[in-house]
Amino acid sequence: MRRQPLRDAQELLVLFSPQGRFDCVSRISVKRTGLLEPLTCIVAHLRLGRSLPVLQEVGLERTFPEILSDFDRLELAGYLLNLWVEAFPSQSDSVDPYRLLRLSLDSLEAGLEPVWLVTWTELQVMRLLGGAPQTRRCLRCGAQSPGWFSVEAGGALCGGCRSSGCVQVDGSVLEWLAFLQRASLLKLAAAQPAAAAVMAGRKLMASWVRQVFPRLARFGGVHANPGH
Ligand SMILES: [Zn+2]
Repeated sequence: MRRQPLRDAQELLVLFSPQGRFDCVSRISVKRTGLLEPLTCIVAHLRLGRSLPVLQEVGLERTFPEILSDFDRLELAGYLLNLWVEAFPSQSDSVDPYRLLRLSLDSLEAGLEPVWLVTWTELQVMRLLGGAPQTRRCLRCGAQSPGWFSVEAGGALCGGCRSSGCVQVDGSVLEWLAFLQRASLLKLAAAQPAAAAVMAGRKLMASWVRQVFPRLARFGGVHANPGH
C-alpha cells in the first residue's frame, strides 16, 4: 500500500493482507524485483526481525494494468488504499477487509463505473466498521421517505426531526444509497440509477467519510469532480 525509504537502502513497506495491515522492512531492491510498488498483489514471505518483520522473498500475484493506465481510476484506487490505511489500521482476525479491498480493486480494473463503485465501497467499509448510515427511514422517529440527511446525526431524517446541518435530499438519492448498502457487485453492475442521484449520493458519502476519517480530506478532488 505504501513505501517509504529507511536507512541503509532499506524500505518500510505497508502491506495489507488477509490478516490485516502489516508493516515490514524490505532490503529487496525495487529495481531488481519491480514488485513492491503500491497497488500490486504479492505473495510475501516474512521473517521475524528485531522490531518489524523483514520481507525475505516476494512473488507477483497480480497487477492492475487498466487502473494504472487510466488517471481517474488510478486516483480512485489511491484513495481506496488510503481509506484502508485509515479504516483498518492494525492486524485483524477478519479476512473481510482484505476481501473487500480485492473485490473493489478487481471491479475497478474490470471497468465497473468508478463513481458507483467508490460509493459502494465506502458504504461496505462503514458496514464492516459497524457505522453505515441509516437511509431508509428517519433515524429518530422511523418515518418512511425521510427527505433530509445529516452526516453528524448518522443518516436520514424526516422534516419533523431534522436539525441544523441537515441537507435536503431527494428520495431517489436515499434509495440509491440504500441499494448500494445491500447490493452485490453483480447487482451493482446491472443498476440503472439516475445521474443526479449518483452525484448527490457521492457527495453525501464523501462528507460522511471525511467526517469519520478527517485525514482523507486531502482527497477532496476525487469527490468533488468525479468526472463521470
Ligand atoms: Zn423523524
